[in-house]
Amino acid sequence: MNPQFSDFMLPEALARGLTKAGFETPTPVQAQVIPLAQDGVDLLVSAATGSGKTAAFLLPIMQQLLDARAPRSATRALILVPTRELARQIYIHFMRLASVTRLTAGVIIGGERRDRQIAVLRRNPDILVATPGRLLEYIQASAADLTDLEVLVLDEADRMLDMGFAEDVLTIIGFTNPARQSLLFSATLHHKGLSSITDRLLRDPQVLVINPVRESHPDIAHQVILSDDTEHKQQQLLWLLQNEPAEKVLIFTNTRERAIALGPLLVGQGQRTVVLHGELDQRERNRVMGLVHGGAVRILVATDVAARGLDIPGVQLVINFELARSGDDYLHRTGRTGRAGEKGLAIALVGPKDWNLMESIERYLGLSFQARAIPGLKAKFSGPTKRKGPRKSPSKANKAAPATEKPKVKERERDRKAIGKRRKPTASAQAGLSPLRKQGS
Ligand code: AMP
Repeated sequence: MNPQFSDFMLPEALARGLTKAGFETPTPVQAQVIPLAQDGVDLLVSAATGSGKTAAFLLPIMQQLLDARAPRSATRALILVPTRELARQIYIHFMRLASVTRLTAGVIIGGERRDRQIAVLRRNPDILVATPGRLLEYIQASAADLTDLEVLVLDEADRMLDMGFAEDVLTIIGFTNPARQSLLFSATLHHKGLSSITDRLLRDPQVLVINPVRESHPDIAHQVILSDDTEHKQQQLLWLLQNEPAEKVLIFTNTRERAIALGPLLVGQGQRTVVLHGELDQRERNRVMGLVHGGAVRILVATDVAARGLDIPGVQLVINFELARSGDDYLHRTGRTGRAGEKGLAIALVGPKDWNLMESIERYLGLSFQARAIPGLKAKFSGPTKRKGPRKSPSKANKAAPATEKPKVKERERDRKAIGKRRKPTASAQAGLSPLRKQGS
């Protein structure tokens, strides 16, 4: 029988919080993490964005804080996250679950006023949700105290490493109570820098691989539309926005410049659009996200860095205007749709320069993109043609056909071996769509 929230013997107040949040049954990550976390063991968890991991760590923490009140303690639980948006989302999640408790939480993130944050710290909230850089400032200035810390969570640890936070995180760990429980969540456990943190953080951890990031979400259909060049992509994008019924659409670009260029172009065509990129200050980011959450705009154009950790309910369509640079990034992007069991659609616009990357993402993820063409906007490009006919010797073939270049996607030997085992029929059942036909293969 599937586990139920009642199996976890959570305090009545949390059970009510779950009902208020509309959470009826635990997601797989919650079903596995909660009982182990309740036992007090350290955990190393691979769980994708959108899997329900936030409640998986919040609920046992909140239970512990409720079961043993300790008003004189300094901060009792700390959740470290890579981005401000993720910190805010976790705080909102906490507020929903804690609505009928007296538990308190504070958010410490860069880009916000220090006097307000000092005031938050003085109130000594039970839980702190923080990005590493700003928190470290306060610890070093003795404005934050982690010596009583009971639980430390590192959320999206792989992102934290990608964003260069490893050293700050290690320094913060050094300031915490050594008797704490530690829970580390990461989309992938293959990240090469991860051991530098896990070695310092975790004691005899239980490793849970719940929803490996490379296993694509079963509720997302992955489509590819071939394009000739940027201008052609813009026309196709506009067609999609005008013809796809999605409530909210997230468009990814690889550069800030491209995101900034697309915004006004779409607005000029009557599409309610905002742009999120890494250079916006906190006020601008809040404004942009407020417009998206409030439904004033339908379309968000974003770069990877800007979109990390975003949880935007109702995203039914993710468009890769430019293909993500790695398979993991592709899954992070497309994981913004199809959340909490909803159906989602991911469409990549693939030009001649993107072809190799597309193939390597397919291989890396064991995924079959479905080919789709837009009537009247079909590309002349139909895949690399030079591989047709008998194969040349590898070296000559390489010269003649750039399609066989080494894939840019991070592909490790271990990962490659595992692909066949993980391969799943994914979205290929989508009606009216053919698997992407590769020339010469
Ligand atoms: P997370 O991976 O924690 O960001 O959660 C992804 C989304 O799933 C959020 O919008 C949550 O509100 C939602 N969610 C988390 N747990 C549950 C649950 N047990 N039932 C329904 N929705 C959930």
